Amino acid sequence: MELLDGKELRKKKLEELKERIKTVDKQLGLAVVQVGADEASNVYIKQKEKLATELGYYFVHKNFPNEVTQDELIKELEKLNNDDKIDGIIVQMPLPAHLDASIIQNTISPLKDVDGLTYVNAGKLIQNVSGLVPCTPKGIIDILDEYNITLEGTNVVVIGRSILVGKPIANLLINRNATVILCHSKTKNIAEITKNADIIIVAIGQKHFLTEDMVKKDAVVIDVGINREDGKLYGDADFENLKDKCSYITPVPGGVGPMTVYELMNNVHLAYTLHKK
Ligand code: NAP
Repeated sequence: MELLDGKELRKKKLEELKERIKTVDKQLGLAVVQVGADEASNVYIKQKEKLATELGYYFVHKNFPNEVTQDELIKELEKLNNDDKIDGIIVQMPLPAHLDASIIQNTISPLKDVDGLTYVNAGKLIQNVSGLVPCTPKGIIDILDEYNITLEGTNVVVIGRSILVGKPIANLLINRNATVILCHSKTKNIAEITKNADIIIVAIGQKHFLTEDMVKKDAVVIDVGINREDGKLYGDADFENLKDKCSYITPVPGGVGPMTVYELMNNVHLAYTLHKK
């Protein structure tokens, strides 16, 4: 088994990004809009701020109280859409129930939508037209490419169909000529499906869901899951149980996670170039 090392790849990709940033004629800017103080969100925002600062980005964190109205939030996003200092905007999920996440998300200009979640960018991905693509799926593709794992003609099973991970990674893989089966909570006999897969991508948020009996020998396993238990992180794949059967596997932590933050910073640069065009 070979480890798919997201931490090492991130280091390498960051050096390449730093070179690209040198040719930019302004300071790149990223705005993160948060409502409330969800604990996991606070951690993710800190990680984003740290890397943005390391890259010399202008970083703005707008934190609203839980009671903020939809109109107030939309006004703020419209301001950021028109702010030349800002190249990329993200709204940190989850949002409280009184806010319509889809309306909020689609208020972001598609040119600054560095999470790739607007209808415009999601549509572009389905039509295989270049746009801004969600960060985690992009990170997964970069990992697979770095290790020269063949995608064309390969049978891939994706478990999980969220708009953030499952659906976009399935579409990216289809665009790369893989054959993709997308499973979810209503799928029957998942183990029978995964056993035929060359590559399995699991993104469901259930500790150690994927086990050795569900994969064929030498399969590639990409574990997106982040499950917190007693201050420790666990993946959706049972790493110890799987590691001797797979050809490649991502660890948790240290696999997909580090690449996600890098891809966000890369998307800010990409958004700037798209905007400039
Ligand atoms: P999500 O929006 O909650 O979606 C979970 C998906 O998993 C849904 O499609 C659900 O099916 C499916 N599912 C749940 N239980 C299942 C089961 N037993 N069998 C088959 N499918 C099942 O989650 P998400 O945002 O995609 O995130 C998934 C996991 O990845 C979480 O642990 C999250 O923390 C992690 N994550 C990690 C990163 C990273 O950078 N490493 C980034 C994003 C997310 P239904 O649609 O039928 O409900």
